[in-house]
Amino acid sequence: MSTTILGNRVDALTLAAAVARVGDFIASGSSHHIVTMNAEIAYLAYREPRLQEVINSADLVTADGSGILWAARSLGTPLPERVTGIDLLQALAAEGARQGWRFFLYGAAPGVAAAAAKRLQQEHPGLIIAGTSHGYLGPDAMPILVAEIQAARPHILLVGLGAPKQEYWIAAHLQELQVPVAMGVGGSFDVLAGRVQRAPLWMQRLNLEWLYRVIKEPKRVKRTLALPKFMLAVRQEARR
Ligand code: UDP
Repeated sequence: MSTTILGNRVDALTLAAAVARVGDFIASGSSHHIVTMNAEIAYLAYREPRLQEVINSADLVTADGSGILWAARSLGTPLPERVTGIDLLQALAAEGARQGWRFFLYGAAPGVAAAAAKRLQQEHPGLIIAGTSHGYLGPDAMPILVAEIQAARPHILLVGLGAPKQEYWIAAHLQELQVPVAMGVGGSFDVLAGRVQRAPLWMQRLNLEWLYRVIKEPKRVKRTLALPKFMLAVRQEARR
């Protein structure tokens, strides 16, 4: 089951169901792209057909953010729960440690992906890290990275280049990489490595995570302005 928000497909499923779906993807052997979509990206894709096509071609699109849940409710097609990138990542690491899934982490500043991997292994004993790479490689280094990932044969490739860069990158490289699952995780490696704190729980509960991020990183304010535009566009769509 899925719903459509401003032309973007979102799958209606819980975190547990998303993890089960990833298990199916891995068992199938072919390549799959997972997008965790928030209001910012949904609005960007609404304005940018190329991004919308990438999202709608993905094999799983989860509702990352209360804006998406609100929109789905407004359009009369409520979604069961939020499935954020970092929560899905943690749940996959937990399941992966049990199943023997291999993970590759690509993205963030030098040293961060490796620190994030270490942290994941501490939290999920037995987790297999097939490799890591930072996210600031030039175009010349791309073939080397692709070959490295192919040789490492991960089941799950986590790509933390920020949205929509990571979505475009996955769409462009998914077939040649031959990984069963590739997922964009935004700034999750920074959070795992302790470089960036997640909003306190009370702010998360009040759906104020975006406010916390703007306070910590004022240059995000421009991106946050997509939120009222997103809400307006959803209101218009709901009226139609
Ligand atoms: N990043 C990267 N390569 C780039 C640009 C960004 O690896 O060329 C990383 C950056 O270091 C950060 C992440 O991508 O770890 C972006 O995080 P942000 O919180 O901005 O992404 P969002 O979660 O909002 O998509």
